[in-house]
Amino acid sequence: MSDIIQLLPDHVANQIAAGEVVQRPASVAKELLENSIDADATHIKLIIKEAGKTLIQVIDNGKGMSATDARLSFERHATSKISKAEDLFLLETKGFRGEALASIAAIAHVEMKTKQEDQEIGTLLKIEGSKVTEQEVVTTPTGTSISVKNLFYNIPARRNFLKSTSIETRHILDEFQRVALAHPNIGFSMYHNENELYNLKISNLRQRIVSLFGKRTNEKLVPINEETDIVTIQGFVAKPEFAKKKRGEQFFFVNSRFIKSAYLNHAVTSAFDELLSPGYFPTYFLYLTVPPGSIDINIHPTKTEIKFDNEKALYAILRATIKHGLGQFNVAPVLDFNKDSSMDPPYTLTGSSTPKTPIITVDPSFNPFKSDPPTSYTKRIPPAKPTQKWESLYVDLEPSSTEFESSSTEILSIISEKTEEQISLLQEDTSSGKTYQLHNKYIISNIKSGLVVIHQHLAHQRILYEEYLINSTIKEAMSQQLLFPLSLSFIPSDIALIQEMKGDLESTGFGFETISDETVVVKGIPTTISESQVSIILEQLIEDVKNEIPDTSFSQVDILAKSMAKSMSIKTGTTLNIKEQEEIVNKLFSCKDPNTSPYGKTTFITMGIDEIDKKFNS
Ligand code: ADP
Ligand code: MG
Repeated sequence: MSDIIQLLPDHVANQIAAGEVVQRPASVAKELLENSIDADATHIKLIIKEAGKTLIQVIDNGKGMSATDARLSFERHATSKISKAEDLFLLETKGFRGEALASIAAIAHVEMKTKQEDQEIGTLLKIEGSKVTEQEVVTTPTGTSISVKNLFYNIPARRNFLKSTSIETRHILDEFQRVALAHPNIGFSMYHNENELYNLKISNLRQRIVSLFGKRTNEKLVPINEETDIVTIQGFVAKPEFAKKKRGEQFFFVNSRFIKSAYLNHAVTSAFDELLSPGYFPTYFLYLTVPPGSIDINIHPTKTEIKFDNEKALYAILRATIKHGLGQFNVAPVLDFNKDSSMDPPYTLTGSSTPKTPIITVDPSFNPFKSDPPTSYTKRIPPAKPTQKWESLYVDLEPSSTEFESSSTEILSIISEKTEEQISLLQEDTSSGKTYQLHNKYIISNIKSGLVVIHQHLAHQRILYEEYLINSTIKEAMSQQLLFPLSLSFIPSDIALIQEMKGDLESTGFGFETISDETVVVKGIPTTISESQVSIILEQLIEDVKNEIPDTSFSQVDILAKSMAKSMSIKTGTTLNIKEQEEIVNKLFSCKDPNTSPYGKTTFITMGIDEIDKKFNS
């Protein structure tokens, strides 16, 4: 039989390698940025269009390449960074595989201009799908500019697999932030669709963090410094009161390289101990320097995972250092463990320099219930008697009638059908004031067949969620115009997100005067919220959008509705009067899908009289 094994042609091998190196536009941005850093650039500019789907360009003022090197750089395993296997263990550079440029050139249209300092003229190279289509001499500044167009043009499956513009932009922003945080000694700028998102000057670490995450970050940072034989730790953690409900800004850098490490994250989190309420995550920017020989970064192709020689010692040192840092700043005594941070006053409000302009008008009488016009159904229910007692749960209970079964779906169909007879039956029940609030958390209501226990917070989330969805899809949302527009500051990447969601936000009743570099001026808000809540809602929304990114069922309207429902819903711990309790009960069961909260949690349970009877007879 004849031989059947053949070597793959280079362009095929490169395409295969590309699958590993380039998952999405953000991977290209990362590789190009890292190459510029390795080329000793002091200023690096990242330009993207349409989330990198049409263009990703990196321009640096680094050392550039000779014409021969420029040509060679696109060959697979072409690298100037290692020459023998041992070098791998002593890596000081970002690159080493010599695969990035070859991979990128296999799946995109690439144009490179590069010039070395001591040369008069530089080189222009154009490559499409691994084939050089043009090579010329050009005049170009010292350094390298690489533009990558039409990524995945020859792999339609990959191209179609790309997520929405906002998701892909978010991924690029993440990479940009990581690289920029790792190198405060390099100036970075970033443009998306011609808008400047960042312009980061060469600075110290604290300034770099602040210019990436906004001015108000400064007050949150607690410095961390420790030097031992096996590791030097530098950086900042955020004071525990600024911990987030979602994993937000958590950055580890090892020898200036961003890494992910669940193990080290555990060390940091455990150093915060009881300083954090359950479910909160600390924010940190931590820079570890270890001897290059004591780590192995080769275990993952995209190089964000790492293996340390002295893992256990590192854990202990890190934990002790953070504890010490927090202790020095004496942050513990000011904590209020029960505080719900979403209820904090908004700290993003600006514009207070002009004394005439009222910025926030807090409406102390704000009541999430009263703004909604009562439905014809709820109107029919007379106000409950204020003498409501828990004992009333046990009076007037009749044996279950055939119309009222204990199963929740039955209750729903009964209520949604709203036949006269049923309403009057139900009315009879609730009119005698048969709701009761348990531990400021649950509402217990009498139904003919037994009782229903409603989780007030989750139920209200469901109610608001459906209201917002109706507002943004069916009805023209009601908007109230603010007398004095509200000026809120955000970091540029968050501004970009708000810009993305502008249309959806408007359909829920928001109105914007301007959305600029760092400021959003709000001129109209949904009638269901008060001015003082705007900032909290927008911040929560941004957080939620960022966190929903990996979710495939990503729909901005839906996230917006969920997020607003979460921010606006009455919290556990809130005392509700009888009227409010009844509104929750009635509105919940008028929902299309009352069984679960928008996040899929159970909103109520029922217990039949038979079930209760059984408990007594057993
Ligand atoms: P690696 O970074 O792993 O070496 P790459 O494919 O990313 O592999 O790059 C190949 C080579 O091209 C690098 O080793 C470097 O010599 C050269 N190179 C790439 N980008 C630049 C740049 N921006 N400036 C100067 N040289 C570069
Ligand atoms: Mg590289």
